Amino acid sequence: MESKDPSANGKSVCEPDFEEKIPPGDDRLRSVCAKCGFVDYQNPKIVVGSVAVRDDKILLCRRAIAPRRGFWTLPAGYMELGESVETGAMREAWEEARARLTLDRILAVYSIEHLSQVQIMFRAHLDNADIEAGPESLEVGLFAWAEIPWAELAFPTVNWALRHWYDTREEADFVPFSNPIERV
Ligand SMILES: [Zn+2]
Repeated sequence: MESKDPSANGKSVCEPDFEEKIPPGDDRLRSVCAKCGFVDYQNPKIVVGSVAVRDDKILLCRRAIAPRRGFWTLPAGYMELGESVETGAMREAWEEARARLTLDRILAVYSIEHLSQVQIMFRAHLDNADIEAGPESLEVGLFAWAEIPWAELAFPTVNWALRHWYDTREEADFVPFSNPIERV
């Protein structure tokens, strides 16, 4: 008889017929295959990115894609399978801004609970001033702190990461930030 180990390769072992149920020993609803018992766990996605600086100017990219097309963001995006967070952050900077980075340290880890998303942001330095819009950017630019288009930032995490970068820009050592307490 062939193996029916539902954990084989982390994939369903049959043509799945999913139903929502709480598996034995679990405490929340999952998609479970009614035929083989495979549990299709859904977990948060990880976004990696960076606040990349050269001569005190910060790399920003104006988004060419939804959501928030036309707004400015830091180079960041979803991790790919089989890569490290460091490689992912450098890849995103290349894809969005044709920028080469040297990563310094983890600046922040933000939990976006309503999106089930975790963002890991690095402090980084641009290896050179050669930047150019990649396919996901309308334009890219290097912004002095006073030039940052605060009203046109794409996401709250961009604002958080910029402010956390600013607060620690002269510190060699600091504890990475997490979600700021919202101030009204
Ligand atoms: Zn199955």
